[in-house]
Amino acid sequence: MAPVTLRKLVKRYGALEVVHGIDLEVKDREFIALVGPSGCGKSTTLRMIAGLEDVSGGAIEIGGRAVNDLPPRARNISMVFQSYALYPHMTVAENMGFSLKIAGRSAEDIKARVDEAAAILDLGHLLERRPSQLSGGQRQRVAMGRAIVRQPDVFLFDEPLSNLDAKLRTQVRTEIKKLHARMKATMIYVTHDQVEAMTLSDRIVIMRDGHIEQVGTPEEVFQKPSTKFVAGFIGSPP
Ligand code: ADP
Ligand code: MG
Repeated sequence: MAPVTLRKLVKRYGALEVVHGIDLEVKDREFIALVGPSGCGKSTTLRMIAGLEDVSGGAIEIGGRAVNDLPPRARNISMVFQSYALYPHMTVAENMGFSLKIAGRSAEDIKARVDEAAAILDLGHLLERRPSQLSGGQRQRVAMGRAIVRQPDVFLFDEPLSNLDAKLRTQVRTEIKKLHARMKATMIYVTHDQVEAMTLSDRIVIMRDGHIEQVGTPEEVFQKPSTKFVAGFIGSPP
């Protein structure tokens, strides 16, 4: 079980406060889209959940456990970024298994998990290739494979599709949807793309200038936007 709870979460860079005390309860296995204009604090919030940024105030709980002081690897999360830096000198299989190798898993265990992830993502025929021999969409799938093999309870995505062209975006979006059904994991998905948010998520969190403007299902935020800003952002009819 991995609900994710944010309590009065604050982030400051020096004197500048960029996240102003966010409260949010993400349910176990829920798919949440975190949306809002560029610079509103989406990545910063996600990176605090991942443990890649210290929090300046408030608390984060994952699976009911306070994680403020835990390093990323102890948080039972996987993060997929927009720039999916794969190791160029490693094969697809080695890229996917690398974090397990670091964690001291046996070669047998690593192979089993990599094969399973490859089957989910249709990467079985590409396992011996190197990243330079893959298309953009295939590389993004390898990046997702890397996240899957760790079998986390929580997946964090930061605009994972923004480097892909429109056709691939649709394809990989479908993969992510399948992944959610299959992995039975909690997912928090940052995007500035309303269509992506509306099609993927159970609930949408709309951020603006470091605070949450509205939380609701796609239907709720579309039909009953709480502010003009939300209506404009989601594209509700006036
Ligand atoms: P988003 O992901 O929604 O585009 P970010 O979370 O990246 O927004 O950034 C939120 C705000 O915090 C922005 O104003 C950005 O300039 C600022 N910011 C992000 N990272 C840093 C940093 N390392 N130092 C100072 N300011 C930062
Ligand atoms: Mg960002």
